[in-house]
Amino acid sequence: MTDPTTPPCIICVAITGSLPRKSDNPAVPVTVAEQVESTQEAFEAGASIVHAHVRNADETPSSDPEKFAALKEGLEKHCPGMIIQFSTGGRSGAGRTRGGMLPLKPDMASLSVGSNNFPTRVYENPPDLVDWLAAEMLTHGVKPEIEAFDLSHILKAKEMSEKGQLAGTPYVQFVMGVKNAMPADRDVFDYYIHTVHRLFGQDAPWCAAGIGANQVVLNEWAIAAGGHARTGLEDNVRLDRDTLAPSNAALVRRVVEICDEYERPVATWQEARQILGLQMPATHAEITV
Ligand SMILES: [Zn+2]
Repeated sequence: MTDPTTPPCIICVAITGSLPRKSDNPAVPVTVAEQVESTQEAFEAGASIVHAHVRNADETPSSDPEKFAALKEGLEKHCPGMIIQFSTGGRSGAGRTRGGMLPLKPDMASLSVGSNNFPTRVYENPPDLVDWLAAEMLTHGVKPEIEAFDLSHILKAKEMSEKGQLAGTPYVQFVMGVKNAMPADRDVFDYYIHTVHRLFGQDAPWCAAGIGANQVVLNEWAIAAGGHARTGLEDNVRLDRDTLAPSNAALVRRVVEICDEYERPVATWQEARQILGLQMPATHAEITV
C-alpha cells in the first residue's frame, strides 16, 4: 500500500506516436476521427492526459498544424476537461516545424532537452531548437513535459528552469527501454526519482514511460513509488508477448488495475490539472473551486 499522502495517479495515454502502423496493430488510431474515438474510450477508462502526434493518410508522421487543430477541436468536444499534450518530438530532424502547433495553445507539449540514440538513428535535439521550443511554450502558455531519456536531461531542465526558460516546476517524464538509449534499470530509475526530489522538491510530480514490454514494468514501478504513469499504443502495441492490445483503453485499464493493487486512486482530470498546475478549461471554470 502506498503512503496515504501520495497523490492520485495521473494516467497519460500516448495514443498514436510516430512509429507504430496499422500493420503492427490495427487498433493504432491514425486519422483524426480515429484518434478522437480512441482517446474518448481511454478517457472514459481513466486517462486524464492524452499525448498526441498526428499522421498523414499514408501513416507517416506529420507536423501539420491544421491536423493538430482538428484533433484539438475533436478532443475538446468529446473529452471535455482532458489535458491535451502535443508531441514536439515526433519528427526528429524537422527543425522548427516540430513546434508549429504550439500557437494552438494545447495544455501541454512534450519537450526533449537533449539528444540520444534511438533504435536506428540519432534523436536530434540541438540546443538552439530546444531553446526555441521552450520559448514558444512560454509565449503560448503551454506547459512542457520534459522527456528524460537520460539523467543529464533532468539536470538540463533544472538549468533551464533557473534561467527562466520553463514556467513553474518542471514536470519530468522518465523514458526507459528505448533501444540504444536508457534501459529499464531499477537503480537508475530510483536515482532519477532522487534527482527530481533533490532539484525540484519532495512534492514535485514526475511520471514514467516504458517502451514495449517495459511499459507495464514502468507502470508498476511508477505507481508503487508515487509517480504518474504513461501507457498507450505509441509505446507498446501488446498486452503480452502473444496478444495485441485491442485498444488504447485496454492499456489504460491495465494501469487502473495496477493502481487498484497498490491502493492508489486514479486522478480525475480535475485532480490532474491541480497536480500539474494547469488551468481549468473555460467551460468548466464556473463549476470548479
Ligand atoms: Zn510521443
